[in-house]
Amino acid sequence: MNMFRARLTLIFIVLIGCSVLVAGIFMASMLRKSYMDSLTVSMERELHVIKSTTDWAYQGTEEQMYQYYSSKTALLRQSADTRITFIGVDGQVFGDSEHNPRTMDSHTEREEIVEARQYGIGYSTRFSNTINRNMLYVAVPVQKGSETIGFLRLAMSLVEVEKSIRNVWYVLLGGLAAVFLLAALISYRVAFSITRPIELVTKVAQQITDMNYKYRVSVNKKDEIGQLGNAINRMADSLQLQMNRIREDESRLKSVLENMISGVVMIDRDGQIVLLNRSAEEILGFSSQELLGKRFDQAKQQFEFTQLIQECIDSRSPLRDEMVFYYPTERILEIHMNPISQTEDDWSGMLIVLHDITAVRRLERMRSEFVANVSHELKTPIAAVKGFAETLLAGALNDKETAHSFLQIILDESERLNRLIGDILELSKIESKRIPLQFSPIHLESFVNNCLNVLNTQAASKDIELSMLVPEYIYMEADEDRLRQIMMNLLSNGINYTPEGGSVTVKVEHIMSGNDSGEGDWVRFTIVDTGIGIPRKDIPRIFERFYRVDKARSRGSGGTGLGLSIVKHLVELHQGNIRVESEVGVGSKFIIDMPLIHS
Ligand code: ADP
Repeated sequence: MNMFRARLTLIFIVLIGCSVLVAGIFMASMLRKSYMDSLTVSMERELHVIKSTTDWAYQGTEEQMYQYYSSKTALLRQSADTRITFIGVDGQVFGDSEHNPRTMDSHTEREEIVEARQYGIGYSTRFSNTINRNMLYVAVPVQKGSETIGFLRLAMSLVEVEKSIRNVWYVLLGGLAAVFLLAALISYRVAFSITRPIELVTKVAQQITDMNYKYRVSVNKKDEIGQLGNAINRMADSLQLQMNRIREDESRLKSVLENMISGVVMIDRDGQIVLLNRSAEEILGFSSQELLGKRFDQAKQQFEFTQLIQECIDSRSPLRDEMVFYYPTERILEIHMNPISQTEDDWSGMLIVLHDITAVRRLERMRSEFVANVSHELKTPIAAVKGFAETLLAGALNDKETAHSFLQIILDESERLNRLIGDILELSKIESKRIPLQFSPIHLESFVNNCLNVLNTQAASKDIELSMLVPEYIYMEADEDRLRQIMMNLLSNGINYTPEGGSVTVKVEHIMSGNDSGEGDWVRFTIVDTGIGIPRKDIPRIFERFYRVDKARSRGSGGTGLGLSIVKHLVELHQGNIRVESEVGVGSKFIIDMPLIHS
């Protein structure tokens, strides 16, 4: 832009300089002409005066003529400030106010003489070799009667004229220089006022190119530059608006992507990974930095996965597959691959969506295992009922004693079946959280006492001692029926898996958090027996449905294998937790922690 301003300034200066120069030349020539004109007129006048006041018709010998005219010209020289020359008709000089006429050559060819002879007056301006100066010559013929006898010539040095013209030039040049300076200044200002707004507009355009949309042109003019500025401002407004919209969309999309549970990976048409959301990082066990910009086949991914991507790229059609991934942990992933196509036959890459379906598949497996287990559990008593009923029908009915024992077995098995179905229904109710808990304050001492009373007969039949250690003051908030279910299950397990003469004890403790309101306090139930204990390897599994350490013994005791799983669910519904410590042959200890109150 400065280049432009400099060029504009230069053009202005040259234009102004040229016009001043032309004006100067014109003025100088005018001046010279008017000087010369007035000089010529005055010389003419002088010439006529000289011609008429002096006798120029003298004739004599050559020597006499020299003397006469020389003295005349010398005399006149004193009163006129000009050179006076008398020239004979044939060109010979007879008198000259500045020079010896004898040494002078013939003047017949001098321009002014030729003109004077022809037109009655002659002018000439030339350099005089005789006196080494530019001179103006004016000549008139001298007549005697009608005969021309010679020429009278006045010559005036042009030094004065030239000096005044030179002075004029000096003044002009000085003026010119001043005008130049002024012109330079003015044209710079003018150029500045033209280029400055353009510079501003350019600067703003540059800022917009660099994505700084907040800059605006501040041009207040109404001319084309002003309009350009306004157009740029409007463009910046619209760009800013569009950019904001794009950024908003982008951040919305980004937050959707980042908060998605599914992993999303995008691969461009060159096979490079160009996008990876947080879930994808977690699922694949690689950070974005490790994967972005890498080709999919160099991203250290499982071979089958890489192969599937290749297959999708080759076929350019959507693919779906399920795959077990072993890194970072073992999981089952559902993979959807979709080519991103812009037109029918062009494509810009592909989108991979990953779902971790490990939990879903585990649940499905558990469900089907549960169904298998349930069927299996139900089959055993039904088979017994069926078998004994068939035997009875086949004739055993006649033997009264056998018939009685068989019918007893049928009754026991159907009771077991009933219990089993009851437990299964209960468990499914609890699991689906269909029945909400009814919280009420429970006085634990009387509550535990009641539970023990119910089981007294059962314990007494095995000579097992039931005891409790409960502080009198403790009240807790819980669903009483559910809490009773928990206690009864654990206590009857204790009685069941403890040989005769043993003991089962319930201990209740108040674990305080130091908060007066009781919030954050816990109640710990410990049910200890002196029974057969649970082998270490089985401890992690005893809360699973239908899991039994010793199937025969459990069945013998009428167990369904569902009791502990119901207990665990109920404890968790109360925001509590349960764990077990046990040693084979010594006994087991079930420890439950539950919040004292529920907010
Ligand atoms: P069950 O109806 O068979 O008792 P549970 O779910 O109540 O089913 O218990 C699961 C298994 O855990 C039992 O089969 C038993 O092997 C073991 N078990 C539970 N409680 C005790 C205990 N107090 N002492 C020893 N083993 C126990």
